[in-house]
Amino acid sequence: MRTIAFGYSTQCNLRCGHCVAKGEIPETSTMDLGRAKEIIHEMAEAGVKGISFTAGEPLIFFNEINELVRLCRDLGIYTRIVTNSFWATTRERADGVVRELKQNGLCQLRLSYSRWHQQGVAPQNVVHAAESGQRYGLDYFVSFVTDFSEQDDPHEAFLRTNNLRFFPEPLIYSGRAASFDHDDLRTDYQANCCAMNPFLTPELDMYACCDAGSHFTETNVFFLGNLADSSVDALFRASETNRLFHLIRTAGITRLAHFAGFTSRQIIGYRKCDLCKALLNDAATLGKLQAAAAGNVNHWTR
Ligand code: SF4
Ligand code: SF4
Repeated sequence: MRTIAFGYSTQCNLRCGHCVAKGEIPETSTMDLGRAKEIIHEMAEAGVKGISFTAGEPLIFFNEINELVRLCRDLGIYTRIVTNSFWATTRERADGVVRELKQNGLCQLRLSYSRWHQQGVAPQNVVHAAESGQRYGLDYFVSFVTDFSEQDDPHEAFLRTNNLRFFPEPLIYSGRAASFDHDDLRTDYQANCCAMNPFLTPELDMYACCDAGSHFTETNVFFLGNLADSSVDALFRASETNRLFHLIRTAGITRLAHFAGFTSRQIIGYRKCDLCKALLNDAATLGKLQAAAAGNVNHWTR
């Protein structure tokens, strides 16, 4: 099923220390609303069944995002908004926003929560947003971004105390978080498959992966193209028919690393996206894997 993370704008009211935004002072850009509507029509024709509005903080553009959500509803596309809950300062304000989003057909809210987000937004906002979702029948979950350190224990306790539905989301050491100190992991030997949800930027660049994928500066391996030059369908097909991406989804990054000559001890020291970057942001290793993806790496099985 085709789904995409839709970056209407990179503008955000916060500057979280861990954000995958590109620079210290990111330039912001915003899509033209009329063009965004055309693209959503094109996505529906291309069989896109789910759109997640993300990038900066989508609800800064409340009216525009409501229009896009309504359009998606009319076209039969499932919608999610990823938000930092800045708008949910009181129960009444949260109710007003959630009621309108629900009326326009929004399917789900994904509420970001972390020790970095909560330096700029009161934790209680997330509670207000979640409780409004429950009152108005709008599905929600809390995305708890964590580095699994003890510093996050009180934050996790807060989410549990308030009976919020939350899922831990491993911090991605990319963007501003690239400089964070982090120890090597010692995982067991996991496959590290990745679903690879594509991402559209406000400049209409499309990437095959929505998280760290636009930060592979040496190879730009996940860049699919720009909608000024290609159709939505063509760019989805470029991702779906790429043999290496297919292996990332099905065989997993660990097997690719093993094939590329990484030792087992090296492999268990990496987080998934870091391992992916070590492999695919290096031109020589990428070239080797791309060549092998057409043939012998497929047989690199037990
Ligand atoms: S992590 Fe999210 S809320 Fe924080 S600065 Fe980045 S886009 Fe904004
Ligand atoms: S593992 Fe690779 S493809 Fe998957 S989200 Fe991380 S960087 Fe993107």
